[in-house]
Amino acid sequence: MQLSTALLPTAVMIFYVMHFRKFLQIRPLARAKVLEHMSEGILIADERNRIIDSNPAARSLALGAQGKRFGASLTDLFADHPELKAACTSGEQRRLEAKIGEKWFDVRLIPLRIRDERTGTLLIFADITGRKLAEGELIRRATTDGLTGLSNRLHFFEKLHEAAESCRSSGEPLSLMVIDLDHFKSINDRYGHTTGDRLLCCFSGLLRDAAGSGHTSGRIGGEEFAVFCPGLNGEAAYRLAETIRLRAAGEPIVLENGETIAYTVSIGIAELHGPDMTVESLYAAADNGLYVSKVSGRNRTTLAGRSA
Ligand code: GH3
Ligand code: MG
Ligand code: MG
Repeated sequence: MQLSTALLPTAVMIFYVMHFRKFLQIRPLARAKVLEHMSEGILIADERNRIIDSNPAARSLALGAQGKRFGASLTDLFADHPELKAACTSGEQRRLEAKIGEKWFDVRLIPLRIRDERTGTLLIFADITGRKLAEGELIRRATTDGLTGLSNRLHFFEKLHEAAESCRSSGEPLSLMVIDLDHFKSINDRYGHTTGDRLLCCFSGLLRDAAGSGHTSGRIGGEEFAVFCPGLNGEAAYRLAETIRLRAAGEPIVLENGETIAYTVSIGIAELHGPDMTVESLYAAADNGLYVSKVSGRNRTTLAGRSA
């Protein structure tokens, strides 16, 4: 009895050492396996931002960590990604999204320190390409008109509000044109709704092309379109509108059977004046110009506030 009591601490010690040895062996093994099997890419860089280790996911994500790239500099690797490059050199914990090649990544940068001294950086890359594509598609669907691909009404007015705000503070002029296809109902009635749709698409293409890149075009509803033009006063917008109107009148659409359909558009224009003019009153003024074009015979442009 006395002997076994004396041996107890030794037995505990032996058990502890055996257990601890196993623990010491298992822990690094498990950690290595985690790195090996995780789907996130891992890069480890030294204090000079040179890659010293990577996991298989980083290599398969083509993050430039192939064996021969060990020692490669992160700042060279991310030379085309200023934000990521700056994050690598900042030495601070950061999280950002970056497009590398054709893929999007959620990137986490974790500084490695021994005491207070920076000894390197751990970078974790999660592939979020699928999520980014889905987000892009949702945004596209929410902002564009399904038939013509132009901005939809909601998005057009959001952009117009932003542009009006920016032109007010910069002192630049801004004009808005509202365009309506003439006698469109009779085109639908005569040629059918599908041909009517085709005409809407053809005119949208013409509008996008003629309005140019600095101006935003939208489909406001049915056969009504609008364009806002930052930097153009009413007179300059009138000239642009006339180009659009004359092109529409001169470019009939051609059907599969060779038949052509000529069409015309009427346009109203207004310029943003004074700090008190709201986007709603700008639109109402342009719409009033459109009404004048319609009642005075269609296929014409009216600049609101200008005497005929
Ligand atoms: P006005 O010169 O006075 O503008 O005459 P209009 O015939 O163009 O105008 P009205 O408002 O009488 O008719 C517009 C027509 O546009 C009626 C509607 O069926 C048609 N329309 C609206 N949206 C679409 C669409 O998405 N596709 C087609 N094909 N037709 C549409
Ligand atoms: Mg119409
Ligand atoms: Mg209409």
